[in-house]
Amino acid sequence: MNEQDKSGQEKMGKQIIKASELDPKFKYEITQMHGGEKLLMCFQCGTCTSDCPVARYSDSYRPRQLIRMTQLGLKERILKSETLWLCAACFTCTDRCPQGVKVADVIRILKNLAIKEGYVPPVFKELASSILDNGYAYRIPELRIKKREQIGLPPLPKGNPESLAKILHGIELKKLLEKRGE
Ligand code: SF4
Ligand code: SF4
Repeated sequence: MNEQDKSGQEKMGKQIIKASELDPKFKYEITQMHGGEKLLMCFQCGTCTSDCPVARYSDSYRPRQLIRMTQLGLKERILKSETLWLCAACFTCTDRCPQGVKVADVIRILKNLAIKEGYVPPVFKELASSILDNGYAYRIPELRIKKREQIGLPPLPKGNPESLAKILHGIELKKLLEKRGE
């Protein structure tokens, strides 16, 4: 197998699975959570992947594969995976699954667990930090604000990070984001 094939397979999560990686309790943990109840009903038909708008444009994102990895208990591998974060939460997979698996909910659960463990891709940390700091997902450069003034556009509405901080107080998002550092 050449290097290119190897990296392609790694992207697709086709590395060799070691028995020590499998957490047999993981699937049961997920079925106890809201939205994860029907995880074990998946029979790997692939409908979720074939209808997923993200999978259509990605050579690594496959919801069917995430569901199978969850059933197998590949917890660490899933939570560390950056492809998990590609899900756009459009719920197409959930609507189309013939087995009633709430695929989008399972992926939401997995993302939440990844956050708890501190596995958040830097770009999402940046977005979340920016929202906590100024109420916007994106830090608007001073230059752009000045440019708006120059061409007579009204000032942008002010973000409200204080009330956001109150809403998010219970989940201590800042602490979770700092958990594993950058
Ligand atoms: S559509 Fe449902 S049953 Fe089919 S692979 Fe996806 S989760 Fe499994
Ligand atoms: S919710 Fe996520 S996995 Fe499901 S179809 Fe949409 S992007 Fe794909």
